[in-house]
Amino acid sequence: MATSTLKCTGSPHTRTSTSSSTHITLWEHKLGVIKILHHRAEHVPSKPEGKKKEHTHIKESLKTCGYPNWAFIKSAKMHRKEDQTPAREDKKDRRNNLVIPYVAGVSEKLRRVFSKHNIPVYFRPSNTLRQKLVHPKDKTPKHKLNNVVYAVQCSEECPDLYIGETKQPLHKRMAQHRRATSTGQDSAVHLHLKDKGHSFEDANVHILDREDRWFERGVKEAIYVHCEQPSLNRGGGLRHQLSAIYNPVLRSLPRCLNAHAYPGPSDLRNSHDRVGPGFTMSSPETLAE
Ligand SMILES: [Zn+2]
Repeated sequence: MATSTLKCTGSPHTRTSTSSSTHITLWEHKLGVIKILHHRAEHVPSKPEGKKKEHTHIKESLKTCGYPNWAFIKSAKMHRKEDQTPAREDKKDRRNNLVIPYVAGVSEKLRRVFSKHNIPVYFRPSNTLRQKLVHPKDKTPKHKLNNVVYAVQCSEECPDLYIGETKQPLHKRMAQHRRATSTGQDSAVHLHLKDKGHSFEDANVHILDREDRWFERGVKEAIYVHCEQPSLNRGGGLRHQLSAIYNPVLRSLPRCLNAHAYPGPSDLRNSHDRVGPGFTMSSPETLAE
């Protein structure tokens, strides 16, 4: 009977160097790489000498890539520990994994707390090379952004302000504000422009927030309206009515816009401490940017 000999042909991990990072997650990743490669060396080559050769090759290659000796010792210890654990019983008590974003100093504490309750915690890196380098789509121009909460200030001279939300691209919604509707139900902005003979520029349109979900967008609009008290929203018309129970919290939020002392667009762009009702953007963006 013919026998075949299988060998590992090497892996990209053993041939490439890794980038440097100080995060704990990187070392967890590296220990994972050692574990996977050794598992592969243990199971792919069919002869003992092939396995030994592969283990040596992995160690030498990873050392060339900057893996220190302690990483191999630690990985081997972890491997032995896993083998010795009476796995079946232990796994029965284990809960589902919890994956949380890695925030230095906080995530480790959370992991210790959860591990006391037998809940394994894994970190999801929030700053990966993929996120940094892979951008298959061009950025959408601001005037074409949809699902936004926006503010319109009438003009530099007129302090009147309107806050609304739309699922449409912003420029379409602005066009609706600028013209009369065929149904006769003109928007508060249009009525104001018509009554006063005013007009607003794209530079005075600000994106306060983005939210794809219909209900949540309505809530965010209501929060901004509650905080900013825009003069042109006084007729109501909000999709979502906030419960009065939120009033103490909402009162403590800083205003980012103010109908009576409205900062110019350039002030808004330069000010990083002007925040909205506190859940997303550091400063409003204008449509004209
Ligand atoms: Zn006006």
